[in-house]
Amino acid sequence: MMWKKIRIFILLLVFGAVVQQTMIEQSDLDWDRNFYVAVYPINADGTTAVDHYISTLTKEDFEPIADYFSEEAKRFGLTMRRPFQVQLGAKVLHQPPAPPKAASILDTITWSLKFRYFSWKNSPQVAVKPKIRMYLLYFDPTKNARLSHSTALSKGRVGYVNLFGSKAAHRQNMFILAHEMLHTLGATDKYNLTTTLPIFPEGYAEPNKTPRYPQDFAELMGGRVPISESQAEIPKSLLHTLVGENTAKEIGWIK
Ligand SMILES: [Zn+2]
Repeated sequence: MMWKKIRIFILLLVFGAVVQQTMIEQSDLDWDRNFYVAVYPINADGTTAVDHYISTLTKEDFEPIADYFSEEAKRFGLTMRRPFQVQLGAKVLHQPPAPPKAASILDTITWSLKFRYFSWKNSPQVAVKPKIRMYLLYFDPTKNARLSHSTALSKGRVGYVNLFGSKAAHRQNMFILAHEMLHTLGATDKYNLTTTLPIFPEGYAEPNKTPRYPQDFAELMGGRVPISESQAEIPKSLLHTLVGENTAKEIGWIK
């Protein structure tokens, strides 16, 4: 009897916490305060090259992201000077649980709970308590030809971001990180998951451009710069991407 009461009490606590967090997350998108983001580097393949690369990272390396979102928010009439503040946290020594490959809904839910638990346990302190935590898993580019997919959760606002650990990859890394950051605020992918081609019109930065191809920019959640109807390229940096209208609506920049 006693145990039953305790169990119900615990369930109510968990339920209360989830409801409260959901309410906080929704009111957050009013954009009257900036989002503090913590980025935590992780040496994903344990090589000394990646260790060395991580030791060279500074807060300034991540400023282009904050600058980029400032510019984009301005285009949508936001008066806030800096919608995001990115803080570089200490290197995290533990590896987060990897997202499931061919995922059932149950696998995905289990993973997302494990990952949120990981994030709760592995959040080295930064100057301002972050609302968004991004784990940057750096891989040695000489040992890995390709990276598996990055992913981020809007529930709990955490990201699992696979990147190449080298100076040469940094500009493209910032594009991947910015994309994943917006997932934590509920922005959805705007590309065909099979072909990776951006979906028209919402995955295009300039859907009204004539002629339509080649496009000059990628829509941030469309992920690629459409070159023709059947070809698209990964942008070299954030400078080649824009936030489109649909994405702006999803994250509350347009009401
Ligand atoms: Zn995505």
